[in-house]
Amino acid sequence: MDGYAGKILRIDLTNRKTGAFPTSDYGQWIGGHAMGSAIFFDRVKNKTIDGFDPANVVTIMTSPLSGTLTPAASGRTEVQGIGVQSYPVGWYTRSNFGGRFAAMLKYAGWDGMVLEGKADQPVWIDVRNEDVQIRNCKQLSLWGMDTWQCQQTIWRFVNGGGEYGDWMQINTRGGQTTQRPAVLAVGPAGENLSRMACLIHDAGNGSGSGGFGAVWGSKNLKAVSVIGDKDIHINDPKALMEARLWQKRTYAFNLESLKKNYVSTEFQSPPVPGVLWGWPPGSGRPTSGQRPQACIGCHSGCRARFKDRLGNEATCYTTLFYMRARTTEIQRMASDLLNKYGLNAHEMFVGSLYLQELHKRFNAIGPGKEIDCPLEFHNYGTQDFLRKYIKMISYRNDGKGKKSQFGDTLAEGFVRAAKAWGRLDGTTGDLETGCLQFPFWGLPVHKPPTLQLEWGYGSILGDRDINEHGFDWLKHDPVISKRFGGKPQATAEEAVRIYTDKMVPFQGDMLMLDYSDGNMYSEHMVKLVTWHRYYTRFWKQSALFCDWRWPDFLNLYAPDKIGSTGIAEPKFLKAVTGRTFSFKDGMELGRKIWNLDHAIWTLQGRHRDMVHFADYIYNRADRGLEPMVLLPGRRNGKWEYLTMPARRIEKDKFEGFKTRFYKIQGWDTATGYPTRATLGSLGMGYVADELETNGRLGKA
Ligand code: SF4
Repeated sequence: MDGYAGKILRIDLTNRKTGAFPTSDYGQWIGGHAMGSAIFFDRVKNKTIDGFDPANVVTIMTSPLSGTLTPAASGRTEVQGIGVQSYPVGWYTRSNFGGRFAAMLKYAGWDGMVLEGKADQPVWIDVRNEDVQIRNCKQLSLWGMDTWQCQQTIWRFVNGGGEYGDWMQINTRGGQTTQRPAVLAVGPAGENLSRMACLIHDAGNGSGSGGFGAVWGSKNLKAVSVIGDKDIHINDPKALMEARLWQKRTYAFNLESLKKNYVSTEFQSPPVPGVLWGWPPGSGRPTSGQRPQACIGCHSGCRARFKDRLGNEATCYTTLFYMRARTTEIQRMASDLLNKYGLNAHEMFVGSLYLQELHKRFNAIGPGKEIDCPLEFHNYGTQDFLRKYIKMISYRNDGKGKKSQFGDTLAEGFVRAAKAWGRLDGTTGDLETGCLQFPFWGLPVHKPPTLQLEWGYGSILGDRDINEHGFDWLKHDPVISKRFGGKPQATAEEAVRIYTDKMVPFQGDMLMLDYSDGNMYSEHMVKLVTWHRYYTRFWKQSALFCDWRWPDFLNLYAPDKIGSTGIAEPKFLKAVTGRTFSFKDGMELGRKIWNLDHAIWTLQGRHRDMVHFADYIYNRADRGLEPMVLLPGRRNGKWEYLTMPARRIEKDKFEGFKTRFYKIQGWDTATGYPTRATLGSLGMGYVADELETNGRLGKA
């Protein structure tokens, strides 16, 4: 199988055994999320277990493109299993991180890794090509270390000392490399089972969502280290090189001829380190002493490393988390602390806004207050506050080593904490008033769910905040242009046409991207959400094209502004694997994966009656955290970028939307359960059998 290493590694932590099975057993799923879900389905017999149950299985998967020259697709890794972050149910969920782990796993000869059971004491896994050892943490005193200390200690151990760049022998069978291992580790937050704990690789690649850091902690697993020197056989290396050059020359930015309005669409975007802390221009924030940093094989380099070493590789919420810091330096330090302690920046960011509301609006939190805690909120923004706060959540204590109910409660996540404080239920509950902006499954708001509908609907119909930015630029282009007095790179009508022309199998239905009030619950909106679920499940989460750069819809660098999506994805897959697999085939496999995931959630207990936003989404006009939103829509029959006011989702109309959505999926509209006819048509009769055995098969 060209593009594959050929084997998947199995780690049985309980019995301290390792094994392997051929990747070809799951070849029809191609890679990443698809393979992970299929493996999870087969290996976890009782899908109703809690995420902390030793029987929970965590898969770490690559794709055939991992470790190859495919641009913005080589360095992503997909993580799956039952999560512990969502509320009230810990759904089967996913997360994803960049860097070089996926590539190194394949160079060591493995397409993925299946983690099962629970070790009787803290361990780490040492993979050197075919040699795999489950080692006790004790020897290197790893348990208790932060994620950076842990990685550095493992590097030194595996490389046998010396300098970075020295040659090392990988194992006794030979094999030489100048690389150091790729390590994925949990910090103190994971060890202490904080539900916001994540997995960290290198300085700032975080598998953030789902609480997988805590799941590893519960398995007594501190880290996985991989190093290898094997080849990945590419079916047609010349075609791959030509495809990369074609993509880069035709669609990517060129630093020497950057377009003025450059923060616009996906594939064309230049490195954005300046956006993190040196933007907007003229803000007085530091812009010198930084250089772009990229995941392996990526042309883009969307993160930065800094001369003063603060905030390396931080992106997105990690940079924003402590945005009311007294200085930019403290803000950058905050992102490092999150990565070292291994905490999910997104929940920490939105959760911190909640605590500030409790302080400012209700005067309800602080020493001796209704929510008694050692944090002095008038010190918010200082380094002292920051360190204490992060330690409390990571160690479940008072931030200074003493037991603390507050730290223990907060480590459970902000929604569970609100419940423990008696603030969740009833008509004045914080999810009812919107004081706590956690709109779906006890998870924090990201893009405004009432405005950017593919995001809101996609999240509530799935398992987590989708965190998929494919349609973001429809909004960013007009917003950024307006803010800086320029023109969007395309009119609303032009942009909508370019996007929807590519949305196979619903191509040409422009109404899919009409975000106006009258179209919120329509068949067209159902198609948009459906397309997005299928595209991301396969092309992004299974083939592992990076979310920051794909899909490539509207592109300022292409002569006609038409990006490469639809042509590029299958072109790269074919060059690497030799497989003729069309864009539409990928969408169909996305449909299959989406159905499999939905079947797993159904087995976990999901029914359509549970599929609802937090009450504030229905009760009050909301715009999330964004002050200005412009989205395409029709007014008086004409397309324009509409200035979106705060709005609510109407509960009964959302019910109608759900019915239409379930119908197009071929699911039982009364329960939301999958049906035998649909699963059978996708070759998943065995999934229907398991649903039937558990009384959860839908009626046709
Ligand atoms: S765009 Fe950024 S996150 Fe994505 S692969 Fe490239 S460097 Fe990594």
